[in-house]
Amino acid sequence: MATCRKLTKQLMKELLDSIDTILLDCDGVLWHSNIAVPGAAETINKLRSMMYTCHFSFLQGKQPIFVTNNSTKSRLQYQEKFTKMGFIVSKDEIFGTAYCAALYLKHKLNFTGKVYLMGMSGLEEEMKLHGIDYIGTGPDNVEGQILDHRADNVVLDPDVNGVVVGFDQYFSFMKLLKAASYLKRPNSVFIGTNIDQQFPMRNSELIMPGTGSLVRPVEVASNRTATTLGKPSKFMFECIQEKFDVNPERTIMIGDRLNTDILLGKNCGLKTLAVLTGVTSEEEILGYQGSEKEKERELVPDLYIESIGHLGKLLD
Ligand SMILES: [Mg+2]
Repeated sequence: MATCRKLTKQLMKELLDSIDTILLDCDGVLWHSNIAVPGAAETINKLRSMMYTCHFSFLQGKQPIFVTNNSTKSRLQYQEKFTKMGFIVSKDEIFGTAYCAALYLKHKLNFTGKVYLMGMSGLEEEMKLHGIDYIGTGPDNVEGQILDHRADNVVLDPDVNGVVVGFDQYFSFMKLLKAASYLKRPNSVFIGTNIDQQFPMRNSELIMPGTGSLVRPVEVASNRTATTLGKPSKFMFECIQEKFDVNPERTIMIGDRLNTDILLGKNCGLKTLAVLTGVTSEEEILGYQGSEKEKERELVPDLYIESIGHLGKLLD
């Protein structure tokens, strides 16, 4: 049986003694959209700056690193959001999938050429910062009856040799047509920033489709499979290791979603802690512990706690 323990004051002492780095998911852990989870900034700032003695040795504060699958913001845009909410943070500590997509193209693929980009301003900003040429952002809709004309007035850019799909609120039939057509070209690369099905929506009757809901239609239309970068893919952790000296054994991943956050932690050999302020309930975690399905047992975190604010209280 996979075992998960609720974080207590005693376990907290052991935990602090065993970690140097804390990876944190953002939505559902630190905030819900634009509303901070109570105590989040205080907790993270305290973990960063705390100096304490443990087992007669003097320990330094913990390095927080923020890891989000959300592709709509660049590192700079995230830094602004963090600062407004009271977090002390440097741009270098923020790893979103917009930034990681640019890193993947630039350093992993040595990409040259032009990308057809489905995404918002954050993805555009990171592409620009990394010198990657792109087209395709903003609204693009069909006019008239497209099938009557066999799309003979659709013009493709001859220089495009890659497609990146991130969250795009202007996703349309025309964009789908163009993305699939560019992917028909030999050697064109195909990247999806992440495969989250939905954005967390608390207390709402609405479902907000996530990037996974946009990547899939492009896969179907093009008959190709995207390389996806967000959690639980190890690529985000590789990006972190390029920049920080992180020892996986002394690192914990804190998140609200088991199949992205917690699975990333497991995939990379990290300790894992789930919070209950997002998409996962205590019943779900405890239910998975004794599950007959290995796939479900794999998602059980080492620890869980109500919220990041509760974790902060254990530090007092
Ligand atoms: Mg989350």
